[in-house]
Amino acid sequence: MRAQRHLSVYVHLPFCARKCHYCDFNSRPAPPADRARYLDALHREIDRRAEMLGGSHVPTIFFGGGTPTIYEARELVRLLRRLRDAFFVEPDAEVATEANPETADDAKLTALREAGFNRISLGAQSFDDAELTLLGRGHTARQTERAVAGARAAGFENLSLDLIYALPGQTVKGWRATLERALALQPEHLSAYGLELAAGTPLAARVEEGEIAPVPEGEHLGMREVTGELCSIAGLQRYEISNYARPGFECRHNLTYWRNEPYLGLGAGAWSYLDGERAMNLRDPDDYCAALERGGDARDYSERLDPDDALLEAVMMGLRMTAGVSLDGLRARYGRERVEGLLARAEPLAEMGLVEIAGDHLRLTATGEPLHSEVVVRLA
Ligand code: SF4
Repeated sequence: MRAQRHLSVYVHLPFCARKCHYCDFNSRPAPPADRARYLDALHREIDRRAEMLGGSHVPTIFFGGGTPTIYEARELVRLLRRLRDAFFVEPDAEVATEANPETADDAKLTALREAGFNRISLGAQSFDDAELTLLGRGHTARQTERAVAGARAAGFENLSLDLIYALPGQTVKGWRATLERALALQPEHLSAYGLELAAGTPLAARVEEGEIAPVPEGEHLGMREVTGELCSIAGLQRYEISNYARPGFECRHNLTYWRNEPYLGLGAGAWSYLDGERAMNLRDPDDYCAALERGGDARDYSERLDPDDALLEAVMMGLRMTAGVSLDGLRARYGRERVEGLLARAEPLAEMGLVEIAGDHLRLTATGEPLHSEVVVRLA
């Protein structure tokens, strides 16, 4: 008998009320007609994938964007229902959505919670209104606090806040103030990413023109240290380079990626990883819709990784987690010999204090962690 297939599902909803000044994600403002057309296309894609993968067990669903909550609750609920019809969504599945504070009103949050969404990830980014303006966000810190209260009242017991640090002009003291206000809301989970100035964004242009100054490299470290310290006091332990959670509230969906487990991506530009094949959908929402309306496939690109590359990818993702990557797991998937080769390449890095073996896991040390990319290159 064929083993039951398990896969996590990601749904990309690429529309936003406006484009934030730092954003280079696959997202854009769009009129309601385009947004409705896109939802139809998503329904078509779910049906297509269900022909191949229907009945698969789904332990996690994640609606990301973009701003999923730019849609009405009934539209998101219909989408979730379609997924439940197509797949076997496990009874204890993590069903999460991203939300921006200005599009997460009480009625919407209640409707989402009642429909089975059980985790919400709010894009707070900062609790300083001047910083929110700098970032081009469409909400204030107070609105984020109201959205958290609304989510709690709706019954969300698993709430995450997304924050960005190292904003131009930000000091360690300023970052600490944002963190304190975020943690006062008692989130179960917190993501804190250092700002990356993406080429072509208005914020990067202002830095290039010398109008505003980036945060000096040394300050990044100070901000990371404060994050770890305050999160730990609040009972949130770091479990991935940029993610902190109360025990038991780690993001199960993202753990799928870091553990290199199978997932299906639906929507424009969404990636899938199934049966050793990595594939990406057409990135432009119009192209994506047109392909599905023609009765065609939304795939733009796919490749099958050879076992050496697949092993390296698993290590790259696994080393993001503080627990590291299971060596037995790697042996089972990629063979003993390849893992012996990996361990031989890891030896000099261990001597340099960048990686260590803890039980069955290979992991980065505190010194190695900021050098994640460099370590991975040397493990290739
Ligand atoms: S809300 Fe998120 S996805 Fe949308 S523009 Fe802002 S950063 Fe980008």
